[in-house]
Amino acid sequence: MRSCLAGFLYFEPIMDRIYLDNAATTALDPLVLDAMMPYLTTRFGNPSSIYSYGRESRMGIENARKTVAKLLQAHPAEIFFTSGGTESSNTAITASVRDLGCKHIISSKIEHHATLHTVNYLYNKGEATLSFVNLLPNGHIDITHLEELLKTSTEKSLVTLMHANNEIGNMIDLHTIGSICKKYNAIFHSDTVQTVGHFPFNLKNTPVDFITGSGHKFHGPKGVGILYINENIKIQPFINGGSQERNMRAGTENLYGIVGFAKALEIASENYLVDKEKIQGLKFYMKEALETNIVGTYFNGDPNGNSLYAVLSASFPKTEKSEMLLFNLDINNICASGGSACTSGAEQGSHVIKALQSDSDSVTVRFSFSKYNTKSEIDQVVKKLKDMV
Ligand code: PLP
Repeated sequence: MRSCLAGFLYFEPIMDRIYLDNAATTALDPLVLDAMMPYLTTRFGNPSSIYSYGRESRMGIENARKTVAKLLQAHPAEIFFTSGGTESSNTAITASVRDLGCKHIISSKIEHHATLHTVNYLYNKGEATLSFVNLLPNGHIDITHLEELLKTSTEKSLVTLMHANNEIGNMIDLHTIGSICKKYNAIFHSDTVQTVGHFPFNLKNTPVDFITGSGHKFHGPKGVGILYINENIKIQPFINGGSQERNMRAGTENLYGIVGFAKALEIASENYLVDKEKIQGLKFYMKEALETNIVGTYFNGDPNGNSLYAVLSASFPKTEKSEMLLFNLDINNICASGGSACTSGAEQGSHVIKALQSDSDSVTVRFSFSKYNTKSEIDQVVKKLKDMV
């Protein structure tokens, strides 16, 4: 047992419920809190101030930038700190249209709303045309159709496709898609919010122009993220004001968030192989348990194929009981979701599941796992689920 600066004694976050919604957000790692604590207390200087308090804060930010760049194998000048994945994707997509001359956007119907609402906004304003790439029955991108769209485009294109889908886990191959984009001189943005902190990036060798990351998806703090902008790309400032983030994003920096982001990424990278093996084990353990115990269960996407190891999207037969599934899970202190956290308050259902199966007669639950979950938790959840479906 160790003590952290906050004065508590613990190894892991204390949880009084079973939390299987780690694609929505993750618990803060106590070691991340440790790293952030000085910047929440004694090192409070404004990073733009020239005296020692300011210089210490500036050092915290620039060290964090170097750490993040090193771990993603990028150059520090390619890393911009933002408020999270939403801001990063909004910026990349809007800048591609307004600053880089992309008048045709190619995306997919299963992107996160941070992407979908941005591309629809630009389309509705008449700033770009919009095409959606076809999906294969297993939810993967139809690469032949993507190439067809690029080949026949009369305008410079932006391709915006997510690395791992937050609802079904399907992954794209960044190298394959990036190389096709290069062939047709298109800009390539990938929403990598579900993979930064869960995947070993080497951005020096990856043909992408923009990627995004969000601290709260890998046991870091909420409200902080990154936008990677390839060094060959030049865009206009995305928030005007002071000279922070090398004149690109004005406003006093989220100092402790940035420090926490870097620490969380460092921990995730150090433990990547061990954590991946454990979490993937939990995913397949649950998949098998559901298959064995609940007749009629099926899984969305391509869980055994190119899929994020932390996400399992399960559909159960629709019955009077199962229609209340999410509610019943909640009252049994089990946290899981029907889809993206951003839409869980709305009654429209998941746009991802709708895009995959238009006339589904099932109830879908996304289970997503972290290093803090255990097999015993999964046993308890499956046991409860048997009574709820
Ligand atoms: N993109 C994906 C795939 C996500 O899962 C999320 C999570 O909410 C976001 C974007 C938005 O990120 P943030 O919450 O940091 O704005």
